[in-house]
Amino acid sequence: MSTVAKNTPILVQKYGGTSVATAEHIRRVAKRVTAEKRKGKAVVVVVSAMGKTTDELIALSSEISGKPPRREMDMLLHAGEIISASLLAIAIEEEGESAVSLTGSQAGMITDESHMQARIEQVEGERILRHLTKGRVVVITGFQGVSRQNEITTLGRGGSDTSAVAFAVGIGAGQCEILTDVDGVYTADPRIVENPQKLPWCSYDEMLEMASLGAKVLHSRSVEIARKFEIELIVSSSVEQTPGTLVCSSQKGRKEFGEMEEVLIRGVAHNADVAKVSLLGVADKPGVAGDVFAALGKHQLNILLIVQAESHEGHNDISFLVPSEMLNQVEGDLESLAGQTGAQKVHIDRDVGTVSVVGEGVQREAGIAGRMFKALAAEGINIDLISTSNLMISCVVPQDCLEKAVQAVHREFLE
Ligand code: ADP
Ligand code: ASP
Ligand code: MG
Repeated sequence: MSTVAKNTPILVQKYGGTSVATAEHIRRVAKRVTAEKRKGKAVVVVVSAMGKTTDELIALSSEISGKPPRREMDMLLHAGEIISASLLAIAIEEEGESAVSLTGSQAGMITDESHMQARIEQVEGERILRHLTKGRVVVITGFQGVSRQNEITTLGRGGSDTSAVAFAVGIGAGQCEILTDVDGVYTADPRIVENPQKLPWCSYDEMLEMASLGAKVLHSRSVEIARKFEIELIVSSSVEQTPGTLVCSSQKGRKEFGEMEEVLIRGVAHNADVAKVSLLGVADKPGVAGDVFAALGKHQLNILLIVQAESHEGHNDISFLVPSEMLNQVEGDLESLAGQTGAQKVHIDRDVGTVSVVGEGVQREAGIAGRMFKALAAEGINIDLISTSNLMISCVVPQDCLEKAVQAVHREFLE
């Protein structure tokens, strides 16, 4: 097993799509990476596809097919990251440092076989470490891996963050920098609220909730892996060298940034990319909910929220949210599910979104829910469904009110 010399710090950086959108951006990243290398660090860089490449590839495929095979979509989409990684390696060589680009497969990212939503099984860091010991900057394609049957897979949209953290684990780095088009994690999406505050730190648990509830600054699975393997994440700007936000354990965060201990609500997250499915009038008997969600489970669907209404005359209504991009996969099943469960109607609503508050205060302080619902009501926003846990309260609202909802809730708790 190769190891990097003991006194050589390892730096793992991930650059997102907007940060490598053009040749000029790539040259800028190469300069930054080279400067780090020249400080004596062993540098691994994980990149996303350039700009909107992944969206463009998906659009191209949909010109040809409404339901392209998922395996072929992985073959198509993984090409995006190969372009940016090889260009970055070329740019680093131009700066006078030695660099090598590797695909996810070449770099040792082993996944299961679920195309477009693959789960990481193992990262074999050996090949990366071998290049590092030879003094090369290693540039790796984000968002992709290979199954044990040698099939190319991708990890799901936004998955390059997850690749970066997994590679950090695989080579024994304790930290991973996620460099993006914002200079940290804010109390809400800075594109939507006027006065968001940058968080100096955020606990793994809170960040995981924020990301799962739509704060796409981090892919939620990257936070899960970071928490499990205690990798500290630093979210910061890919352009300016600012301190950014540290995502770490709450013990460490509290100790280093003591003043944040009493924070009630850490942030507001929103998600417009959801659809609500309602099975109306299903039979009220044991096993029905199990049948419904077992049938959906085989699509590896990430069900975001489930609400079952009170029984009425031997029937129930079951509503749940799914990511809208996955809806067409399950639509066929929904019809047959309706038949099996005796549902009188299936209703799909794409014009919804969720607004959520996240923070330890949700559990600690009474009255958070009331304040949130009142803030929404004051704007005339109707709440469709509500879900809570000890770290969050989430409301389904009409999509055309979503931005107003985020602003109102942010004003209530964080301004
Ligand atoms: P990348 O291409 O670098 O992966 P993303 O577009 O996936 O970048 O994520 C960065 C974006 O996340 C920001 O431009 C911002 O609009 C959005 N975002 C959503 N919620 C937050 C938040 N709480 N803090 C910072 N950014 C957020
Ligand atoms: N390129 C992929 C996407 O656009 C992965 C990523 O950027 O993280 O979803
Ligand atoms: Mg991203």
